[in-house]
Amino acid sequence: MENLLEQTFGLSKVVLKKLTGYDNVNYLLTCDSGRFILKTYPYDKELLALVEAENNALHFLAQNNPNQFPEPIKELRIIIWENEKLIVRLLTFLPGEFLGQVEQNHELLGSLGQFLAKLDNILLTFDHPIPKTRRWEWDLQYLSLNKKYLSDISLATERNLVRYFMLQFEENVVPQIPNLRMAYIHNDANESNILVTHNRVTGLIDFGDLAYSMLINELAIALTYVCYDKENPLEWAEPVLSAYHKELELLEIEVKLLYYLIAARLCTSVCNSAHTKKHNPHNLHALSSEKMAWIMLKKWLALGPIAVENSFRSALGWKPLAQQQVDSALQRRYQSISPLLSVSYDDPILMEGAAFQYMYDQQGTSFLDAYNNIPHVGHSHPKVVEAGQRQLAKLNTNTRYLYNQLADYAEKLLAKFPPSLSKVYFVNSGSAASDLAIRLAFAYSKNQALMVMDHGYHGHTRAAIDISAYKFNHKKGQGQQDYILKVPLPDTYRGKYKTPNEQAGKLYAQEAIEQLKYSGKTVAAFISEPIVGCGGQVPLALGYLQELYPAIRNQGGVCISDEVQTGFGRLGEHFWGYEAHNVVPDIVILGKPIANGHPMGAVVCTEEIAACFAEGPEFFSSFGGNPVSCAIAQAVLEVLEEEKLPEHAQIVGAYFQKQLNELQKQYPAIGDVRGAGLFIGIELIIPGTLDPNPKLANYLKNELRKRHILISTDGPFDSVLKSKPPLCFTTENVDQVVRELELLLKNYPT
Ligand code: PMP
Repeated sequence: MENLLEQTFGLSKVVLKKLTGYDNVNYLLTCDSGRFILKTYPYDKELLALVEAENNALHFLAQNNPNQFPEPIKELRIIIWENEKLIVRLLTFLPGEFLGQVEQNHELLGSLGQFLAKLDNILLTFDHPIPKTRRWEWDLQYLSLNKKYLSDISLATERNLVRYFMLQFEENVVPQIPNLRMAYIHNDANESNILVTHNRVTGLIDFGDLAYSMLINELAIALTYVCYDKENPLEWAEPVLSAYHKELELLEIEVKLLYYLIAARLCTSVCNSAHTKKHNPHNLHALSSEKMAWIMLKKWLALGPIAVENSFRSALGWKPLAQQQVDSALQRRYQSISPLLSVSYDDPILMEGAAFQYMYDQQGTSFLDAYNNIPHVGHSHPKVVEAGQRQLAKLNTNTRYLYNQLADYAEKLLAKFPPSLSKVYFVNSGSAASDLAIRLAFAYSKNQALMVMDHGYHGHTRAAIDISAYKFNHKKGQGQQDYILKVPLPDTYRGKYKTPNEQAGKLYAQEAIEQLKYSGKTVAAFISEPIVGCGGQVPLALGYLQELYPAIRNQGGVCISDEVQTGFGRLGEHFWGYEAHNVVPDIVILGKPIANGHPMGAVVCTEEIAACFAEGPEFFSSFGGNPVSCAIAQAVLEVLEEEKLPEHAQIVGAYFQKQLNELQKQYPAIGDVRGAGLFIGIELIIPGTLDPNPKLANYLKNELRKRHILISTDGPFDSVLKSKPPLCFTTENVDQVVRELELLLKNYPT
């Protein structure tokens, strides 16, 4: 090779040393006239045109800026080496250390911003037709080309995180591309291409990614690599941004899009790493940034777009984004909305966006969502959003037409149940499901009464209120209807029988059966949640349902399990809460998580019950089971499977309870920690007694809110902290909650 190069370029005493390269082979070439960089590429006609254009740009840059960029020495050549046709080119060698090898500081990064802005200013006057025709994965405007690599990302949660940022790119960046400044940019200002001398950026190499793209991408890419290995990325972005802006003024829209563009670069990086890992695992250079890119993507999610934009604006000396006052939003709401619709927290939150387990308010504060169980697989989950978007754009109609989405979803949902539960009705809420379930029970049993659980809640329709002790027993409630029989909550913490084994469950059940007997009523149904949410996350004592269900059936009634809160894998080990009790209900009510926030409910029942109901008039719900709802709900089931979220809920939930149990040992105000999977209750008491402590519960809820953690309180005394987060909640998220709880408990005046 050395001899061939000597002949080709007219050099003597050539010595080659191989350097790392992304996808072409580079050498440090030493000869008697000095040190050069030799770049070699397998011959390809299109590549040749691109390399020629790159040389052209480098000549252009060298005219006025000697020694800052590699300069082509002689024209490029085509050689045959070991039967392979290669393009070879010689470039000047630039001195300096790489940015990735030196200790970074704000002054150095300021010089990076200035250097890039100067370069971009010069490139504004450069033109060449060839790179404009190039459409490839590393040009951010063509981010979607990387979608083909998504399947190479092995972990489903990570794959869907990338999908989320790709979706945000499509929503936020793509519509703006026609309005953005386009220019030639270096397009790869990473720490291995930036040269530093005496704490200043003095050079930039590798123009192989030269692109005619959005001007702002230059900065987005540089910021990505400046930030991705830093604990606090925003702090390090500041000097780069402000120095760039002094030299080349940025536009508001460009700064707005930086969040999404930086995420897009990280997505490009992890997609290509995943692809390389699968197909060319020995190319370590291509994998060098992967770990940091994942860390930064997750950090980016936790920060959210508004906080990042405001931080960038502040770096430029701009005011934060205009925001509404919470008070005026509150006032406006109650001008048209009844005050009966309460708002969470003493200090309400004006929400603007949400992603997975985070919610962002208008100011850009990012809240860790330890509370909302409706966005079951994560807020704005891309697969769910895309399923809805796609189906909405195609067909949305009612069940009086045939469309496959209904049967597809019904089959997939029923496959999650034992064979006896083989029919399903779709409605639009948990309340509508409860209401329908009661109608089914009446139609089947012909009995007139209903047995309900104390403190239970099943919805807001008239029938649902009748069966919800949480509402009818409220001091402002309507009271208990004559046809209702209410039984005590089989609560092993606060109730009559405290032994946490099946014995207690049996005793509670026997008392309920006695109560039924002496009531003189024959019930059409018994309804309960397996863990009573509004009762304060109280799991029914084990053995209770096993003993009670046969008694209900013996007198002609049916057994209804309300799985609106507990269903769809939230409890970890059991996909449905009733499974933990070794029973099979006759009717199951579904809602909340079923479609991740899209309004949907369902009633699943036996063939016999459905047959009796079919003797009455037609059942029709205008929206129930429409193709959009079915497509979204199907996406939820697919994500649960793909991301193994029930298994994840089991692991993270067990860890959560373990950490809370540790806390309980130190803080006797924690009376009980209970629940299953990611459905957890923390009962607060006056230490040394069983007396509920709603004051402490309310204090913790509001203080956690100030510390940007969302959690709620419930239970008959409002003394139970309730955590039922999206199932993508992680053990790190748990640590954050427990750490803050501990600090609050430590400083709480006793
Ligand atoms: N059942 C249970 C157990 C619930 O928690 C709820 C809602 N909190 C409902 C039914 C009613 O659902 P929706 O609000 O969708 O009508």
